[in-house]
Amino acid sequence: MLQTTIAGSLPKPAWLAEPETLWAAWRFAGEELWRAQCDAALVVLKEQEDAGIDIVSDGEVFRQHFVHGVLHGIDGIDFERKTTIGIRADRYKAEVPTVTGPVRRLGPIHGAEAAFSRAHTDRKLKFTLPGPMTIVDTIADAHYGDRPSLAMAFADILNQEALELAALGVDVIQFDEPAFNVYLDQVAGWGIEALERAADGLGALGCKSAVHICYGYGIQANLDWKATLGDEWAQYRETFPVLARSAIDQVSLECANSKVPIELLGLLAGKDVLVGAIDVATDQVETPEQVADTIRAALAYVPAERLYPCTNCGMVPLQRDLAEAKLQALTAGTAIVRAELAAD
Ligand SMILES: [Zn+2]
Repeated sequence: MLQTTIAGSLPKPAWLAEPETLWAAWRFAGEELWRAQCDAALVVLKEQEDAGIDIVSDGEVFRQHFVHGVLHGIDGIDFERKTTIGIRADRYKAEVPTVTGPVRRLGPIHGAEAAFSRAHTDRKLKFTLPGPMTIVDTIADAHYGDRPSLAMAFADILNQEALELAALGVDVIQFDEPAFNVYLDQVAGWGIEALERAADGLGALGCKSAVHICYGYGIQANLDWKATLGDEWAQYRETFPVLARSAIDQVSLECANSKVPIELLGLLAGKDVLVGAIDVATDQVETPEQVADTIRAALAYVPAERLYPCTNCGMVPLQRDLAEAKLQALTAGTAIVRAELAAD
């Protein structure tokens, strides 16, 4: 009960890429880079195991950015043709690659990475992929002409990839959809359909599907945006009922220091809920008691067997020792609540 997990990413070792940076440049190339990434995966798997995390991930050490890892294995994208777009409804400007033809998967993209992680941990393994709506919001389109068509094309590619990863022994495939918080009407319109298409058939392979929704890393553009959202982040009031009706098994969201009204978790009845109990936007390490408080608050709306203590979001921009301390706080806080439940 109360199995712990993480949203996905962890800081990369400084010898692999520049620390505390998004889009950090690699320090190696080619075969040397692959070897270094594998070494880093061993480190982050061990860090999670030592901290007592039950469902571990490769920390996303094999990819430079959570969206662009998968894109490099897809035909129809011109990485040289950069277009400046305003992503997440213009919250930030970014120079992004451009879709210039039909998108098609060239072959397995993350299979070797997942197989490596699977061979080196006995814990349950989670693997993260960007969701179709978030991909569409992070790339320029000069071919499809409308976002739903492009999203469905990416959903088919993600589904091929996800089914292969599940067959390799991945226990949870999580699709990261921070864009779900930004385009609420489009989630119900086509976002959820694209997400379900990406996850189709995972259950038959014994693999759970998850979606991570959030208000972003602790970078300035996100902090500024959050400041405009008022005292209550009520976006989920519209999104959660749609997710509750969907075929997706698990929903991951931020609950530590967030202004998401905790009672909204009640709208996710029937789903596993990955409750973010670690704030990734602060250098302050939670006390175990603070983590326990967040879990206890969520337990009022989510049954214990469906509650998974988790981090709010990816920890890739954090200092490494800070991230390790936060993992330990997560499991220590969870242990407090487990003991309380056992005593009841
Ligand atoms: Zn996130």
